[in-house]
Amino acid sequence: MKTATNLDVYYEAVSASDKLAPIQEMIRACMQCGTCTGSCPNAFAMDYTPRQLWRLVLLGQKDEIFRSKTFSLCSDCYLCTLRCPRGLHLTEAMDALKQIAAGENRAEYKYSILFNKNFMQSVRRHGRVKEMEFMTNYFTAVKNPLVPFRFASLGIKLIAKGKVSVSWLPKARFPLEKIFQKVNELETPP
Ligand code: SF4
Ligand code: SF4
Repeated sequence: MKTATNLDVYYEAVSASDKLAPIQEMIRACMQCGTCTGSCPNAFAMDYTPRQLWRLVLLGQKDEIFRSKTFSLCSDCYLCTLRCPRGLHLTEAMDALKQIAAGENRAEYKYSILFNKNFMQSVRRHGRVKEMEFMTNYFTAVKNPLVPFRFASLGIKLIAKGKVSVSWLPKARFPLEKIFQKVNELETPP
């Protein structure tokens, strides 16, 4: 079964010349209060804070934005969206930046993109991520024998604590297929 993701559809649909404009519209009312930064659990690891990133977006600093790791470190927790006094859809804006980076096949996001795609494909096939299948497919996709070694120590710890299932479910049942298709339909630009 073909498992094209929302991202695949979005990449093809978004015009190359006008990618930042919809995101600028989404955050146009930002007043630089910093509540998003203060709420973000991942801000400590970001090179630009979320508040700074929104300023760069409003200024159209595309090169600076896509050199930054900020949006790729967003874990979609929605805290900034819930707390923004302007009611801006910040998590969606972060996702839109990820989609642009992925659509442009930027080298610095290659691993993040493959991680995301393989994660979602596993969820689509089984209704939840199957860790062994997901990581095997991810390591195969990155085509870099050093990458599995970076995960080895963490993987061993997680398996030892029973946090990662080592079971392999080869038969995909696609229990969430209708949900995936509906989301694709809703998120595909007209
Ligand atoms: S919380 Fe909202 S208004 Fe405040 S800096 Fe962040 S995006 Fe701008
Ligand atoms: S949704 Fe992303 S940017 Fe917003 S608070 Fe959560 S991790 Fe930070």
